[in-house]
Amino acid sequence: MKPAPIEPVMKTLLAHKQEFQTTALMNVQEHYKTPFHVLISCILSLRTKDAVTGPASQRLFQLANTPEAMINVDVKAIEKAIYPAGFYKTKARTIQKICKILLEKHGGQVPTTHGELLALPGVGPKTAAITMVYGHGIHEHIPCDSHVHQIANRLGWVKTKKPEDTEHALKKIVPKQYWRDLNDLFVQFGQNICVPVSPWCSKCPVAKYCPKVSVTRSR
Ligand code: SF4
Repeated sequence: MKPAPIEPVMKTLLAHKQEFQTTALMNVQEHYKTPFHVLISCILSLRTKDAVTGPASQRLFQLANTPEAMINVDVKAIEKAIYPAGFYKTKARTIQKICKILLEKHGGQVPTTHGELLALPGVGPKTAAITMVYGHGIHEHIPCDSHVHQIANRLGWVKTKKPEDTEHALKKIVPKQYWRDLNDLFVQFGQNICVPVSPWCSKCPVAKYCPKVSVTRSR
């Protein structure tokens, strides 16, 4: 099947972006505008629904808004603030460990390289890439989560088995001007229309381009 054309799909989805609900992470980015808040909120979002991540982030940042403040809060208070985020007990400890390293090794700042970010506890390729792109505004990565991975495969842009492979494949074919928007756009699109199971193809603004539309048109 022919892949969907990249530029028309990106332009169409960007034109419809206002119709999709904003993600918890982008709400944090727009509200606090610092890499620290993006990094910590991204840790909270792992294996956690957006409806939980948003309020949990707010409660946590009301408790402590800087690395210094975060290491001085009792870990039980962090647990309480971020509950019911998935693995909240582990995440509370991870957040404090990250803050300690930021203070001891990075002068209280979030590092600006992917490698340094990956060296932080609990930070994988997606969290590092999100912090680079949406925290620092450095657009050298396409953060790739399950939505980006699944939608890029449905559109026929890539044929990959794992999200880690999808970023490399996407970077070869997606024009750089779209790298910043792609993750946020596809997460919103994946939460609202191209959902993981039974996507809403009948409501999809890029259905006319999509090679998967014919087999998923049932809803
Ligand atoms: S047509 Fe369906 S499968 Fe294709 S991008 Fe749209 S919602 Fe996803």
